[in-house]
Amino acid sequence: MQTKNYDIIICGGGMAGLSLVYRALKEKVWVAERILIIDKDSKDKNDRTWCFWQKEGIENEFEDVVYKRWKDFLFFSNKEEKLKLDTGSYIYKMIRSIDFYKHVLAYIRQFDQVDFVFQDIISIGNHGNKAAVKTSESVFESKYIFNSIYKKPELKPENQYFIQHFKGITIRTNQFKTDPAEMYFMDFRTTQENGTTFFYTLPFNQNEIFVEYTLFSKSLLKPEEYNSKIKIYLSEILRIDDFEIIEEEFGAIPMTDFSFERRSGNVINIGSVGGDTRASTGYTFLNTQKTISKILDSFKENNHPFFEKENISNKHKVLDATILNVLDNEIYKGDQIFTDLFNRVKAKTILAFLDGESTIPDDLKIMASLKAKYFIGPFLKVITR
Ligand SMILES: Cc1cc2nc3c(=O)[nH]c(=O)nc-3n(C[C@H](O)[C@H](O)[C@H](O)COP(=O)(O)OP(=O)(O)OC[C@H]3O[C@@H](n4cnc5c(N)ncnc54)[C@H](O)[C@@H]3O)c2cc1C
Repeated sequence: MQTKNYDIIICGGGMAGLSLVYRALKEKVWVAERILIIDKDSKDKNDRTWCFWQKEGIENEFEDVVYKRWKDFLFFSNKEEKLKLDTGSYIYKMIRSIDFYKHVLAYIRQFDQVDFVFQDIISIGNHGNKAAVKTSESVFESKYIFNSIYKKPELKPENQYFIQHFKGITIRTNQFKTDPAEMYFMDFRTTQENGTTFFYTLPFNQNEIFVEYTLFSKSLLKPEEYNSKIKIYLSEILRIDDFEIIEEEFGAIPMTDFSFERRSGNVINIGSVGGDTRASTGYTFLNTQKTISKILDSFKENNHPFFEKENISNKHKVLDATILNVLDNEIYKGDQIFTDLFNRVKAKTILAFLDGESTIPDDLKIMASLKAKYFIGPFLKVITR
């Protein structure tokens, strides 16, 4: 096999890989570099939606493709109480992956310096002072490889590995009676026999709603189990029996305290495989964008992509690992933890914590809202391992 050479290779042209190329070209960080994007898929389907929150006035690099924004967040407790959350100036934003792929790919395709290859990647590694990737058909080498292909890591015995798994449907109906300006951030009006379980409900307008059945647990359910819970929720909670399904999504996001490697030689991991998924929530989109900002800043300042300080701090990693261990103990259950948290702490403080931007007084407020006795053992386990 003949080896083809590039300056930069992107292994996995999904959210992280495409964001990096788009932003590097847009910010003119990569000007003359020859770039190769390798993916096994052509990214022409709406295979997921990305949601995240940002303070009013703060924009992200993909603001043009934000499909919907909500200012009002609701929380429904395990006792069916409704809380209107005090989220300060936070806005919840949603990007449909198909809009992202179209927008980003249309921009990138204008640049002759970027090639695309649709092949299955078999291995990625370092070869001398270069990085190399082998696909089903070719071998490519470059100065740097940015890898976003997720593989379940080899865990150590002390690691927790939960899966956030969910089935979402977008429905069309005339029976949705509440205000579409309000999104249901977490709705615990469902049974908890399979782990921490809630609905996540995003009305796009009075007639179109996205409803997602979400679990934090260690194994997936059978497909029909997600469907039957969604049907019950629609009928008994939202009082919707007459609807048409327009779109469906299924996802499984790792929630783990495994320490992902950011870099091995000239291979830099980005996205979920680089540790950009927040272990306590599964949110990844904005963390990945923050990591990409660090990579681009490093290129601008040092002419290389390496950076020291991760945006998910060690403090937040310890707290996330503690939460996963508390969930694993199954005494203080997830639905009760979130109910205590949202009842006792302002949501804007919780959102800042989940963004990794909370201060120590914020962290203390969050800890004080929870039943401390269930956290002491897991916390000690995490800090002494
Ligand atoms: C359905 C769903 C909904 C989600 N919703 C949210 C959300 O609301 N907010 C949020 O913050 N996060 C969300 N996430 C989590 C996370 O943001 C996404 O998984 C995100 O796409 C991760 O980006 P990534 O670049 O790491 O991986 P991906 O976007 O999955 O990109 C990896 C790419 O690698 C390619 N690939 C994989 N294996 C190979 C191979 N062997 N050879 C060649 N190519 C390969 C894939 O085709 C893919 O294009 C969601 C995840 C899913 C699955």
